[in-house]
Amino acid sequence: MSAGAITDCSQASPGDVTVEVCVIGSGSGGATAAWELAKAGRDVLVLEEGGDYTGRALTQRDGAMYDQLYMDRGGRATSDLSIAVLQGRVLGGGGVINASDVVPIDDDVARHWQKKFGLSGFGPESLEPFRKAALEDLSANRPADELLNRNNQLLRDGAGKLGWKGEVMLHNRVGCVGSGTCLIGCAFDAKRNPRFVAIPRALEAGARVFTRARAVRLDDAGKELKRVAVRCLDAKGYHEGAAFTVRARHVVLAANAVSSAELLLKSGLGNEHVGHHLSLQPQLPVTVRYDDEVRFFRGIPQAYAVTQFEQREHPEHGWWGFRLEAIAGTPGIVGSLLPEVGAPGLELMRGYSKLGAALLLLPDAMQGRVRVESSGRLRIDYALDEELRGRFREAVKAMARLSLAVGAKEVYVPSVPPVRVRSEAELGNVDGLTLAPTTAPLLSAHQQGTVRMAPNERDGAASPEGEVYGTRGVFVFDSSGFPSSASSHTMAPIITVSRMLARQLAARG
Ligand SMILES: Cc1cc2nc3c(=O)[nH]c(=O)nc-3n(C[C@H](O)[C@H](O)[C@H](O)COP(=O)(O)OP(=O)(O)OC[C@H]3O[C@@H](n4cnc5c(N)ncnc54)[C@H](O)[C@@H]3O)c2cc1C
Ligand code: SF4
Repeated sequence: MSAGAITDCSQASPGDVTVEVCVIGSGSGGATAAWELAKAGRDVLVLEEGGDYTGRALTQRDGAMYDQLYMDRGGRATSDLSIAVLQGRVLGGGGVINASDVVPIDDDVARHWQKKFGLSGFGPESLEPFRKAALEDLSANRPADELLNRNNQLLRDGAGKLGWKGEVMLHNRVGCVGSGTCLIGCAFDAKRNPRFVAIPRALEAGARVFTRARAVRLDDAGKELKRVAVRCLDAKGYHEGAAFTVRARHVVLAANAVSSAELLLKSGLGNEHVGHHLSLQPQLPVTVRYDDEVRFFRGIPQAYAVTQFEQREHPEHGWWGFRLEAIAGTPGIVGSLLPEVGAPGLELMRGYSKLGAALLLLPDAMQGRVRVESSGRLRIDYALDEELRGRFREAVKAMARLSLAVGAKEVYVPSVPPVRVRSEAELGNVDGLTLAPTTAPLLSAHQQGTVRMAPNERDGAASPEGEVYGTRGVFVFDSSGFPSSASSHTMAPIITVSRMLARQLAARG
């Protein structure tokens, strides 16, 4: 088997191609599937609409990196603009720009999938070898204490003072120098993400990869050879250019839970579940002001998590409750998250090095929906219900109590109007946090569920093998198939499930 290559379609159209398996998306799901299928001797082609960015090309500049590494240049949001929907758009997918936290799918969640959703093959025992392999792919290890910045340490100290449970999460960094810019890519190539693990292995096994190649439609889904219509993009990925066609016996969608459903909907494929059951796992950033230096912009941004309020066995939802995780931001983002603008905002930014921050991360009831308007425009509908709002307020109060316990002067929720807590006596201010649409900078990094797996067509859009109902030979191997939130962080669960499903497909012949 000769090694495959990466072809940049912005330079020249490769022309029509026929392959055995066409994988759409090169992130955790797609790269893992491509590696497994190529290893099993399949002729594999990966289509990726992003470019290939490594090392110094990852310039640590906010504007340029959001533009090149994020879907819709970082501007993707829900239809009412209330929640920023963050997805990677680069060879290696979200793994290139994520926070590198590794949290495997939990046994209780796997049992929930078996019990509530009838996915008998997804129990802890069946998943275990694949979960282990995912941790190996990611070189999962516990960050050294010296890489934890003071923001993370303060979260850990606060949890300790209040007697709350928490942990330093596993991560997939090797050779990290603590530059703090993980969310706009690692210029030091220290992340063991798909770009440096599954993609090179897939290439070694003979897979080919086309970058700046956007799959726009899937046709002839019922035939032996399916047709994927592809458009080359320009070097910056702004405009569509030459068209070509990929014919493939199997098509594996791994474009992320929003984009995989979008492609099925645009192609008129799948049943009425496609696009529904979207989980956004909404997150709310909270900023904390201290009197002394925190310097949260150096070191690993997101390492410590308070897990005290998590529940893993909720009968209806599996994983539930909330989590507090340290986070840091580059100046542009932090400036936009402070409760003041103009001169008062500038004054607050003068204290940038004395700020801390956390993300409040909440599992949801999969109440969102991806749809495509007749104009072809993508819509992501998501309503925050009262239960979720109440849980957010609880999480803010917990974060405020913890921060005050370690000497914070003020805790801000950057909402409109802002919510400020300066003492325990002010905790009641949090009850004024309405979270009405567009009043708080909510974000989503862990989209799941839009083509959910179920043992029958009545209950889901894909079979337990990931095959889209009604379209033999078309599969979803990303978090689209998850029937409930797999974990507080999705990268390791996606690698786990993709490998398991890819092996099953390879065994089919
Ligand atoms: C800012 C951020 C921080 C995160 N932090 C963490 C973390 O610390 N730990 C963790 O476990 N998870 C984290 N996540 C989530 C995790 O990175 C994602 O869940 C994971 O990368 C998704 O993998 P995937 O393979 O499903 O899709 P992706 O990684 O999103 O890959 C899909 C790829 O498909 C491409 N694509 C889309 N549509 C098309 C098309 N039509 N044609 C061709 N290509 C297409 C995209 O360009 C993209 O590269 C984070 C995510 C974000 C955005
Ligand atoms: S903190 Fe480590 S992993 Fe993150 S960008 Fe810097 S060197 Fe890379």
